[in-house]
Amino acid sequence: MASIAAAARKLSFEDAQARVLAAVPGLAARLVVERVSLAEALGRVLAEPLVAHQALPLFDNSAVDGYAVRAADVAAATEANPVRLSVLERVGAGSVPERTVGAGQAILVMTGAPLPAGADCVLMRERTVEGGEDVRSLTPARAGENVRPRGEDVREGDTVVAQSTVVGPGEIAALAALGHAEAAVVSRPRVAVLSTGDELRDPGEPLGPGQIYDSNSHAMRAAIVASGAEAGEVWRVRDDPKVVAGALRSLLEAHDVVLSLGGVSMGDFDPVKLALAEIPGVEWWRVAMRPGGPQAFGALDEGRVFYGLPGNPVSSSVVFDRLARPLLRAAMGIPSPDRPIVRATLSEVVRSAIGRRDFVRVRLTGEPGAWRASLTGSQSSGAVTSLARADGLGVIPEDLETALAGSTIQVILWREPA
Ligand code: AMP
Ligand code: MG
Repeated sequence: MASIAAAARKLSFEDAQARVLAAVPGLAARLVVERVSLAEALGRVLAEPLVAHQALPLFDNSAVDGYAVRAADVAAATEANPVRLSVLERVGAGSVPERTVGAGQAILVMTGAPLPAGADCVLMRERTVEGGEDVRSLTPARAGENVRPRGEDVREGDTVVAQSTVVGPGEIAALAALGHAEAAVVSRPRVAVLSTGDELRDPGEPLGPGQIYDSNSHAMRAAIVASGAEAGEVWRVRDDPKVVAGALRSLLEAHDVVLSLGGVSMGDFDPVKLALAEIPGVEWWRVAMRPGGPQAFGALDEGRVFYGLPGNPVSSSVVFDRLARPLLRAAMGIPSPDRPIVRATLSEVVRSAIGRRDFVRVRLTGEPGAWRASLTGSQSSGAVTSLARADGLGVIPEDLETALAGSTIQVILWREPA
């Protein structure tokens, strides 16, 4: 044990980040292109650009319910002197006009109906007096008025959405409008969670003396899904190095990434540490960050990744967010895999240490451009409910021993402040 503990490598946060991100190409090489239905495409990463194979709209059509006419015919129309036109037919969206609009003629078209041949504009119905067989225009119209011309939105060959875009409702609209029933997306890294601890029970079960609920594995599964990766198996095992070793081996066979929770610090019963001693390529780290210093990491064979996260709930969440999440997202090809950052005025003093990067859970109040950041309560790495109220993580950099109230800090944004 002493020798393993002594072997922990001291790393700055930046060094740890560089080592984790060095695993991106190997992990990325495990991912493939999949075709998924539009219903399954939300949140996935496009594996190829969306290029329009047709114009949108595909045909000139009416933007309003009204009369398709020749602008020249109604140029002189006023309320006092309306221009009378004879109505040839009525065309709804989805139908095709049969007649051609000639001088003194009009066709009644509904929104989305093709513009009839011969017409160059559509008079809004509201600007006319309708008879049955004829219609009187009370105003003139410009050529092109209320017409959505072919290709107005996109032309054939245009790139509509770049490769590696994360698909949202807007991208799904574009895919569907262009007739795609499926999207080509990057497969998601499959991530397993192995939670360790004799003290842990499932939520919903009664607690015995000394026992607590396993919050980490639930939080971690949610964080994996929210990152865009795929949550695989979530297992919990006893603090027995043999059991942990067996579970790790099985999980590594069936997943791209295995995250373990707990058992990586200096405790007498730290089973992950003992179990991993046999797996080549895993290193012990003491990262100069808080929370979350003690970690284990390994870029293993065939691009697989093992990440031993600390057991304290806040520590595991913060280490996942700051180091593992960007790895997963970068491997999927997301161009900006990390979270946005805003500046905020700190509303209270925060003590840190020179040489260490601290991440504090903060709530933001105020407004964009003038955020105020206040701590969400105890910053103890076991204070799990401080995660629930946080809008993000305030960063206290290595060169500060104390961040003063009123000073400006960077906040890594977890969500839009309420
Ligand atoms: P460890 O790193 O295993 O020594 O765990 C550090 C602290 O985190 C201990 O107080 C554990 O009880 C707690 N802990 C470890 N795993 C979990 C978990 N899955 N859910 C909640 N707390 C945990
Ligand atoms: Mg433990």
